[in-house]
Amino acid sequence: MVHAISILGSTGSIGRQTAQAARRLGLPVLSLSGQRNIDLLEQQAREFHPRYISVMEPDAARELHQRMSDTDVEIGTGEESLVKAATIEGADCVVTGVSGSIGLRPTLAAIRHNKRIALANKETLVCAGDIVMAEAARYGAEILPVDSEHAAIFQCLAGRDKKELRRILLTGSGGPFRGWSRERTEDVTPEQAVKHPNWNMGAKISVDSATMMNKGLEFIEAMHLFDVTTEQIQVLIHPESAIHSMVELLDGTVIAQLGTPDMGLPIQYALTWPERKASETERLDFAALGSMHFENPDLNKLPCLRLAMDCARAGGNSPCVMSAANEEAVWAFLQEEVGFNDIYRLVAYAVDAIPYIASPSLDDILDSDRRARDFVRKSVY
Ligand code: MG
Repeated sequence: MVHAISILGSTGSIGRQTAQAARRLGLPVLSLSGQRNIDLLEQQAREFHPRYISVMEPDAARELHQRMSDTDVEIGTGEESLVKAATIEGADCVVTGVSGSIGLRPTLAAIRHNKRIALANKETLVCAGDIVMAEAARYGAEILPVDSEHAAIFQCLAGRDKKELRRILLTGSGGPFRGWSRERTEDVTPEQAVKHPNWNMGAKISVDSATMMNKGLEFIEAMHLFDVTTEQIQVLIHPESAIHSMVELLDGTVIAQLGTPDMGLPIQYALTWPERKASETERLDFAALGSMHFENPDLNKLPCLRLAMDCARAGGNSPCVMSAANEEAVWAFLQEEVGFNDIYRLVAYAVDAIPYIASPSLDDILDSDRRARDFVRKSVY
């Protein structure tokens, strides 16, 4: 189990649940970060007494600084402050609950400080998985997946020789529009898209779940985390979300991890690993569940998933371009500037338009990320 943590994105869905876990486990929280929700940041700061808080928006940072003037907490702003929050001395684990590729630099910095990464920010591995995994191996930093599917796969593979793994069965509920045609999703509103049937999550990931881009990002995340090829991952729709993913071993044995859909569980395990502690999470009631269903995803109805799998096969900077373009397109959708189906169109255009780089450096990745975002912004306005 870890001894003290930093929480990046502490005011978001993952961050708030991490704060709950820290409270329950009696874990000190040495740094926090947020975008602009200073009411919650102040509340968390007064409870956990961190040494450092990163606030992305300068005006909000100034106001929090005034409010906290009776304490000696240091407050910073901008992207550099996120790196500082991630590398604070004394914390041996960083929970990366920020959304989007903004998580990449602080995650790399924390890896170089040999901290455990409780990885809830999938865009980091999607954009720069080769670089991040190589750095983690070089510095001996542990990466514990917080994404429920990857936490499940991690547990299914625990203590097993990698050679025993034949393939990963990556499950997904199918989101709120499972089985809908492209015609039917044309008029979907942000309000409809953020209502997930099983999981309670932030806006960006909820929209990604609705387009199934989330499963595509998880597909790429799994390739990097578990060092498998695209052929070794099968996406499987499982509407009940009781199984959080499975592995199939060489001899045909399948091992699954099950539980109620509660992110508190993978968060706690990433902090307590290799130990396991009691939790207050609701227990799975098999009799109440009754039955479980499975089907193959229809890639004709799920163009975002198909595109992500194509980008996974293409490798290079394609996943980065796709993910960055998707972030901007989802943002435009949430602002009601484009329609639901435009998300796919914009991302596909960006993947076509931005030049392919087979072995991108970190600078190439950051540049591809910027160009993809610019491309989408210009296409929207
Ligand atoms: Mg997930």
